[in-house]
Formats: sequence, structure tokens, C-alpha cells
Amino acid sequence: TKIRLRSLRDLPAVTTDGETITLMANIEFPHEADACLERGASGVGLYRTEFLYLGQDSEPTEEDHYQVYAKVVHDMQGSPIVIRTLDLGADKIYGDNHTPESNPFLGLRSIRLSLRNTDQFRRQLRAILRASVLGDVRVMFPLVSTLHELRQAKMLLSDLMEDLDEQGIDYDRNLKVGIMVEVPASVVMLDRFTKEIDFISIGTNDLVQYTLAVDRNNPDVAALYNNCDPAVLRLIQMAVDSAKKANIEVTLCGQMGGNPVYTMLLIGMGLRSLSVTPSAIPEVKEICRNVSAEKCRELAVRVRDMDNAWEIKRLLREHLRQLF
Ligand code: PEP
Ligand code: MG
Repeated sequence: TKIRLRSLRDLPAVTTDGETITLMANIEFPHEADACLERGASGVGLYRTEFLYLGQDSEPTEEDHYQVYAKVVHDMQGSPIVIRTLDLGADKIYGDNHTPESNPFLGLRSIRLSLRNTDQFRRQLRAILRASVLGDVRVMFPLVSTLHELRQAKMLLSDLMEDLDEQGIDYDRNLKVGIMVEVPASVVMLDRFTKEIDFISIGTNDLVQYTLAVDRNNPDVAALYNNCDPAVLRLIQMAVDSAKKANIEVTLCGQMGGNPVYTMLLIGMGLRSLSVTPSAIPEVKEICRNVSAEKCRELAVRVRDMDNAWEIKRLLREHLRQLF
């Protein structure tokens, strides 16, 4: 199968009824661009930038950020790169001068932390802006829960653009700005968000945790953490529909997207872009090439009528088995 999957690299992810599915890659390290190309990724749909901080004694400089972004953009040979701004806090702790929180996943993490440490945030955004002239770079803010957070982040970005203008430093004036949809509040308010952004990416890892109030890393409640929970599926559907209605791009970048069990359902729910761990691309592509979007839609309609997560999962497994 290894050889067969490898030969898939240059084939498009098109369903039997002609729907193209864009398969992008999630990466954490700049050297992973090679793996993306090797597996045939259409770009980097989620570049987790936290590694610049983790395991470091000192804060990365603007130049540190810029160098790694430039490398990824260069290595990806012109395909899109979605750089997600820092998602530190909670499970991604940096340094030892942080105050312990009693509920870190509900605490000062991700965009909240960036908006608190604006010097750090500015360095990263400036580096992203500078890298934006080197290729198809996009910026994405994680864990956005309110419009206010988005507006604050965009304000910083436009201030930095002005600075760069004054300094005669080039950047992409049409830099696409997006948010990760991983908090139910952002799904509920998505019709407003979509007026102020160019794309969304659904982060199911956190969306499941916040929808079901289940810590994604706590083994005691692991059984409650379920991608197939009907509440989660409804929120994903709402997000997809909102994005389509507003005519902005929507990708799903949670781990669910790289699990073949969900591929048909996600296509059926209207998703046409997935960002997955590079090694999962061939397998997901193989499924895309063997299903019809219409059949997937029928499956999604059937799932919509179900209310038991385990039964939903069983049905999805059965459909996957029947495929091969
Ligand atoms: C997610 O929450 O689905 C996601 C992709 O972000 P991370 O796993 O980095 O929190
Ligand atoms: Mg997340």
C-alpha cells in the first residue's frame, strides 16, 4: 500500500462526480514543508508557530520569526501558507514565569495571551507581514471568541502596516486574514465575523472540548470527548453554512479531518477543503477519489437525523468499510 499511496501524490483529490477537495497540511516545524510536498499537499492550511517558543530560553525576535516563515514559504514553492499566530497557554506552556491557572483551558491562552503581550504579538505579525511578499501567505488568529478580539488583532495588524509603509518595507496589502473557529461563541456569531475576515478554519480539537465541556487531555473524561457528538456536528454544519453564505473560504483543520472515518461525512456536510497532518493526506485523498459527493451528502443528511454519537460513528465506519 505504501507504494500505491505514494503514487497518489500527483493525482488530484477529485470525487467520482467531479468535486475537487483541497487537501492541505498541518505543520509545526519549518522542515516539514518537505513532507507536505512529498505527500502532495496543496499548501499549508495550518502552520502552528508555537515551536518557536517551546524549548527556548529567550523570546524569539522578529527576525527569528521572519527567517522560519521565509523558509517555509520558499520551500512550499508558491502554494498557500496559513500562518496561525501564537496559540500558547493551556497545554502549550512557555517559560516558567506564568501564574498557574485553575482552569487553563478557560484561561489566558492563545489570542487572549497575544492580545495581552502585544510586544510579542507585534513582533510576530510584523514578521508575517514581511514574509507576505515572498509568496501566498495568510494570517489566522486562534481561539477567537468575540468580535472585539478579532478587531483588536486586526487593529494591531493595520498599525503595523502603517509602520511598514512609513519605513518603506514591502508587504502584501491584500494579506488574507482569517480566524480559527474553535469556540461555540464564534460559530453562533459567525455571520458577523464573516463580514470582517477572508476565511475560517474549523478547529475541531478545541471545538469539541468547548462544546461538550470536556478537557481534551483528561483521560477521566476521554469517553465524553466525541467528534461525532450531534451537537458538535451541528456546530460544524452551522460554520460551513455561514461561510458559504458569506462566500468566504472554509477549511477544517482539526484532527478529525485527517481521520478517514470522517472524510465522507465532512464532504457530505459541504466541506471542500481539509488541512491534515501530512502523513494522512494520501489516505484521505484515496477516499475522496472513490466517493461521490452526492452519496456523501446523503450520508450527511442521514447523520443529521441521528442523535447518538456512537451510532453515528458506527454508521461512518460501516460506510468506510463498504468503500474498499
Ligand atoms: C484545533 O483546535 O482543532 C486545532 C487545530 O488547534 P490545536 O490542535 O493546535 O489546538
Ligand atoms: Mg485549537
